[in-house]
Amino acid sequence: MIRVSEIEAKSALTRSRIPSLDFCLNPYFGCGHGCRYCYADFMCRFRKRKERWGSFVDVKTNVPELLERQLRRRPPGRVSISTVTDPYQPVESKYRLTRRCLQTLLDYGRRISILTKSDLVLRDMDLLKQFEACEVGLTITTDNEKIKKLFEPNSPTIRRRIKALEKLKEQGIVTYAFIGPLLPANPAKLGEMIVPFADSLLVDRMNYRSKVVRIYRQNRLERFLEDDYFDAAAETFEKIFENKQIEVVW
Ligand code: SF4
Repeated sequence: MIRVSEIEAKSALTRSRIPSLDFCLNPYFGCGHGCRYCYADFMCRFRKRKERWGSFVDVKTNVPELLERQLRRRPPGRVSISTVTDPYQPVESKYRLTRRCLQTLLDYGRRISILTKSDLVLRDMDLLKQFEACEVGLTITTDNEKIKKLFEPNSPTIRRRIKALEKLKEQGIVTYAFIGPLLPANPAKLGEMIVPFADSLLVDRMNYRSKVVRIYRQNRLERFLEDDYFDAAAETFEKIFENKQIEVVW
């Protein structure tokens, strides 16, 4: 059960520390996808929230208006949607904040980069196609649905994410896949599933071991936490993608 609250935010855009991106836009605080390894739970400490990350979502109802105001003043730059939430988590179906923000970013001619685990992004294809510079990434961390459920319990299936990448690419949107953190997987199978539909690939290891080490132990998956597993998998991805002249970053 996710507790949903409506709140007023003070700001829509924040400066990004990621070199290729200038600003971050997070229309929600909290995330209903509830990934067990989520790095974003540090935000609870900042805001003195006691609830478990993944059990609540704060809907920043005034974000589209704040964004409009900030875009009038701020210099042009690339906007990342999102960095500490999923912009297409389930509540977005009802609140449509991400969609409204996209319309504003489009009106102001901004460049955008989206990262999500949800095929709800396809709803906004009409807007995405109008941006001069827009890339959309789908996070796909394993080829195994049981593993996905273990670590990312409330997020869309792997099949739906792959299908979303396929449809985005079909429509001429620049796509990327983010295999991060790499979960227990068959790397060759995972790479082959993604390669036809991604213009580039980002790979990252499990950097949040302390959050999930118990899940690995309980399910006898410890070997997938070893560096050898990640290094071999990254090499497999490199072979599969570089054969098709697709850039791999890890
Ligand atoms: S989708 Fe992203 S922000 Fe949401 S819980 Fe999972 S890792 Fe965290």
